[in-house]
Amino acid sequence: MKRIITAFIACMLLTCTAGAVDLYVDTNKVATDTPPAIVEGRTLVPVRAIFEAIGATVEWDNSTRTATGEKDGTIVSIQIDNTTAYVNGEARTLDVPAQLINNRTMVPARFISEAMGCDVTWYQNTQTAAVADKIKGQHIYVTKTGKRYHFSGTCNGGTYYEATLAEAMGRGLEPCDKCVLTIDNSVPPTSETTPPASEATQGQRNALNSAKSYLGIMAFSYDGLIKQLEYEKYTHDDAVYAADHCGADWSSQAGKKAKSYLEIMPFSYAGLIKQLEFDEFTHEQAVCGVEQCGADWNAQAAKKAKSYLELMSFSRDSLIEQLKFDGYTHDQAVYGASQNGY
Ligand SMILES: [Zn+2]
Repeated sequence: MKRIITAFIACMLLTCTAGAVDLYVDTNKVATDTPPAIVEGRTLVPVRAIFEAIGATVEWDNSTRTATGEKDGTIVSIQIDNTTAYVNGEARTLDVPAQLINNRTMVPARFISEAMGCDVTWYQNTQTAAVADKIKGQHIYVTKTGKRYHFSGTCNGGTYYEATLAEAMGRGLEPCDKCVLTIDNSVPPTSETTPPASEATQGQRNALNSAKSYLGIMAFSYDGLIKQLEYEKYTHDDAVYAADHCGADWSSQAGKKAKSYLEIMPFSYAGLIKQLEFDEFTHEQAVCGVEQCGADWNAQAAKKAKSYLELMSFSRDSLIEQLKFDGYTHDQAVYGASQNGY
């Protein structure tokens, strides 16, 4: 009997590998040039697609065949065919390692997502893996036959049942424009209602202490710090209070953040500004941070060109175009290409 079951499972695994698996991050389907695959019950996805979909930057080291992703200060390193991966330098054991499938580097979606602080659900019926990043912890409600999914179980007075994000995505349900949008448009921070420090509540003082300890570890933007505190279950008002009173200089925070990015991967001047804006620094703070970081943009272009050439081959012109697309000036792009023998 045992042998039959084993054979049956092995057969199922093969079927799944060949079948189509959909990957979603929040409400967006992740477009991948190589489809996700299931290997030994784990969903494997192209390395760049998953890191970028959850807002992480990713760098590939060809000599060690290691991909390193960074998001909000969390750094995940995963090496092809190695069952040990690293999260902020701490070893984690994988049951299925990163591996080459059809010559593409495929990594376990759940491990990467969870290491980056996201939730992952799997829906067997439609072979859908759904990663909850910004909407992590959000309950999803649907009807058996409806076309929409809801964040509110009582939206329109309906009779809903609770579902997984994966089920809603797998069934191709659209977001309800009443309750889903309300939560997506997060409330902008308001400082007018913030009471003076002397009247700080316990919640405000706790949030302020947490804010200071976060800032001791890594750099944050104003909005990024508020989000982090809210993620730690502080109320929005307490988080805003902490961000307003923590004494951080947001421009120098941007400078620190810029430096930490450059330690992980090369950037162009314009690309790094964009990255900081993505982290919710204002344009002025981002510019200020990038000006402070002291990078040599020619050298950055050369490093970037090298990392592209490790991933695929380019003509001289297409390599220069790619670098310009990343925000390098024409001269920097030419320099980067020529440093790599082009
Ligand atoms: Zn609704």
